[in-house]
Amino acid sequence: MSQWSLEQRSFRPPWLFLGVLGVIALLLILVSWALWWVPSAGFAAIHPDFSRWFGLLLAAVVLLILVVLGLLGLTLLSGRDLFGFSWLRGLAIKYLLPAIIAVGRLFGADRDALQRSFIALNNQLVRGRGLRVPAGRAVILLPHCVQLHDCAIKVTGDIDKCLRCGKCGIGDLAELAKNRGVTIAVATGGTLARKILMEKRPRFVLAVACERDLTSGIRDAYPLPVYGVFNRRPQGPCFNTEIDLMEVTRALDAHVLPEAKAE
Ligand code: SF4
Repeated sequence: MSQWSLEQRSFRPPWLFLGVLGVIALLLILVSWALWWVPSAGFAAIHPDFSRWFGLLLAAVVLLILVVLGLLGLTLLSGRDLFGFSWLRGLAIKYLLPAIIAVGRLFGADRDALQRSFIALNNQLVRGRGLRVPAGRAVILLPHCVQLHDCAIKVTGDIDKCLRCGKCGIGDLAELAKNRGVTIAVATGGTLARKILMEKRPRFVLAVACERDLTSGIRDAYPLPVYGVFNRRPQGPCFNTEIDLMEVTRALDAHVLPEAKAE
């Protein structure tokens, strides 16, 4: 069975996120109707057709947003990238999804849960693009907190300095990346991550981080496809965090090929 099929089977729709999508669609229709109705009586004084033009403009904007919301919902349910145009996908990732998270927060929804849904949706869009890039055009970005807090080795800048002692996940990940010929780096923040991406110019990025950092990183990096993997935080945030090596391996299997086989 293909990697794609396995991922499709294990997918569960994030209902919280879908619920927020529905609420936003409803609010949008109500607000736009009120926006049209309230001033329309006065518009006739400016020009007899002004009210109609305003109504048409408003309807076009609302329709566009409803289409993007609908595509987001269908993408979540189907597991496929249904955005036919990259500008439409960009609109969703850069503006609409953050707005959805903000609206969800207004209604008291859990921020981490909403951000996890954002990452799940983004990962589906990346999978849906069917990307398979040469190993040399892929980059793995890790947060510094994966490294054992007490480790005396400075792996930022050169992860190969890691002695592979097995006390944290850095060693296994460095080895995995080395075996596959994929660039791997530890980024201490967004600025360093951007610098690494500018230098390497990858076509696929696998980023490991917490919900908040992944959400902002995916937005910042768009249109570069960034596949997000959460780190586990058994000892609290930003301290000796852990990474599911199998999840990283599966994402690399699905999207990165040895250079000779690259499409
Ligand atoms: S695996 Fe590497 S980074 Fe982690 S504690 Fe050992 S030497 Fe340090």
